[in-house]
Amino acid sequence: MMGTQDAPAQLFYDFDLERHVPAGHMLREIDRFLDMDGMREALRPFYSSLGRPSIDPELIIRMLVIGYVMGIRSERRLCDEVHLNLAYRWFCRLGLEGKVPDHSTFSRHRHGKFRDSDLLRKVFEATVERCLKEDLVSGEGFAVDASLIPADANKTRSIAASDWNADVARKAGNRAAQEYLETLDNAAFGAASPVQPKFVAKSDPAAQWTRADESRPYFAYATNYLIDTKSSVIMDVEATRAIRQAEVGASRTMLDRTEKRFGIRPEWLAADTAYGNAENLGWLVERRSIIPFIPVIDKSERTDGTFSRSDFEWDEKNDQYICPEGQALKQFRRNYSDPNRGKATGGRKKYRALKATCQTCPSKDICCPKAEARYVTREPHEEAREFARACRKTKAYKISRDKRKKVEMLFAHLKRILNLTRLRLRGPNGAKDEFLLAAIAQNLRKLAKLRPQCVQKEVSA
Ligand code: SF4
Repeated sequence: MMGTQDAPAQLFYDFDLERHVPAGHMLREIDRFLDMDGMREALRPFYSSLGRPSIDPELIIRMLVIGYVMGIRSERRLCDEVHLNLAYRWFCRLGLEGKVPDHSTFSRHRHGKFRDSDLLRKVFEATVERCLKEDLVSGEGFAVDASLIPADANKTRSIAASDWNADVARKAGNRAAQEYLETLDNAAFGAASPVQPKFVAKSDPAAQWTRADESRPYFAYATNYLIDTKSSVIMDVEATRAIRQAEVGASRTMLDRTEKRFGIRPEWLAADTAYGNAENLGWLVERRSIIPFIPVIDKSERTDGTFSRSDFEWDEKNDQYICPEGQALKQFRRNYSDPNRGKATGGRKKYRALKATCQTCPSKDICCPKAEARYVTREPHEEAREFARACRKTKAYKISRDKRKKVEMLFAHLKRILNLTRLRLRGPNGAKDEFLLAAIAQNLRKLAKLRPQCVQKEVSA
């Protein structure tokens, strides 16, 4: 006989929300690691002691955490989900009848007290501290990378960069444009490159018109991750313009901030070729004593069969190169009274062989067939570049290269599981908020996965 489901005509229930959420539910696991103690203290100076009590900022943060952990991108939908889902109500401490705030509350808090107090960064740093406490961070090797996230900007509503007018945007009261103008001197945004992009999005002028590999161009921001390679914990996150200079600058900002905040400087850093320019390698090796497991950007290798610069041996003691025929290539062959001689080439030095030697050399045809004598250049920070090249030949480099993939896996997780395929908020601050919240969610999910409650109970039993 077919059964029928009738709503029980019961008026009162004995219902315990605490017991209703299963022990292994992800939010129950995450709840153990969400440290909100410091949050109230950080916010206290931004609230008046008079007037009506505000909506609890902890409730807003807990709702935002649910949104990013569960990949709910719309704040309207998030409010509906929290209203209906019992596990979400439990996580937000709303009970069965607590009122869910209106979706507009998020925007008010974000643009107001949260941003003024830099609250999201504090919550993020609390998750890193918890990872340290749970022994998920070794501090031995870090990896850094950036990924493009499409901005909430449309090509059809963009204009040529030359037509964009700051005064018009300012008068229109566009918040994203105002933020863009405020970041013009910021190395992560306006000051990263003097090159003007082809198009500017009127709704979000800081978004970079760019493309990834073979895709069609679009407006995007870059999210930069610095991770510890032991358990893929995100040590720092930074939003930048989607250009290489800004991303390389962000890697240094994150390394310094991690050292300042947590006292951790890694022994080595793994990154891809984008981070292998002379200046960055010099900074890592000479100023921070970090081993760079980074491929060197090297344009000196020749492919026409003639000697490359790597065929010439550097003689540090005598400040000269030795060619494959054993001849010296020098920068100066006599003493000059002008101390600035040879310094006007941006730090790049030229070492020349003697014309008479090269003219009679048996290897001239495979060394300098078209020139009278051979010269090779020495780039600034060449010692650091040579050190990075030597590191690349080690076994540790191969291990670091595999560990570097962990950042890419985090970006894939960010886009596929957390649904961060397009930004919802505009402007540099919007990108910063979204990337911080996504990193908070990823670190909390990591803690829940690697330190589950049931295992801890077994250990303590
Ligand atoms: S051509 Fe000049 S620099 Fe080249 S191998 Fe011969 S002597 Fe050395």
